Amino acid sequence: EPPAPVTVHKVIGDALFGLTPRLREADIAVTVAVEPPELKAMADAMRLEQVLVNLLTNAVDALAGTPAPAITLRARREGDQVVLVLGNNGPAITPEVLSRLFEPFVTTKPAGKGLGLGLVLSARLVQGFGGRLHGGNLAPSGVAFTIELPAVPERP
Ligand code: ADP
Ligand code: MG
Repeated sequence: EPPAPVTVHKVIGDALFGLTPRLREADIAVTVAVEPPELKAMADAMRLEQVLVNLLTNAVDALAGTPAPAITLRARREGDQVVLVLGNNGPAITPEVLSRLFEPFVTTKPAGKGLGLGLVLSARLVQGFGGRLHGGNLAPSGVAFTIELPAVPERP
């Protein structure tokens, strides 16, 4: 499907819904802040949901053993882009992984649990919407992935 306007808050809700059992089981606090609430971006709703599920699954995995685990999803418009940031308060990504984050088969998970393809696929999907995916460590702690998507063009 070619990119079309999608309601960011709805896609976030759909992605979180499928992960509810895992988020509950791990007692992860989830915060969603979309401003304005009806914010739209150019994407494909199902593929964007898949990207969010991939990133959320990584965050849940990364939060194992973290006290007071938390995930935040924030989205807002910045000029001609919609910027969606998914953060968690888990341990930092090691420099070795960070330098090869979007390369295939890079994984720190045990065999059978991770193939190291989630981020490659996610970046490719986001690029398909005309956007970009970045990831990295936060100061002083935590990890965040940023999805940049084209904003919906203004119509006269
Ligand atoms: P997989 O989940 O199969 O390992 P991914 O491409 O989704 O493959 O992620 C690659 C690696 O990037 C992970 O194994 C992990 O080491 C690191 N990573 C991804 N997301 C996070 C995160 N939120 N926090 C810490 N490390 C992460
Ligand atoms: Mg993954």
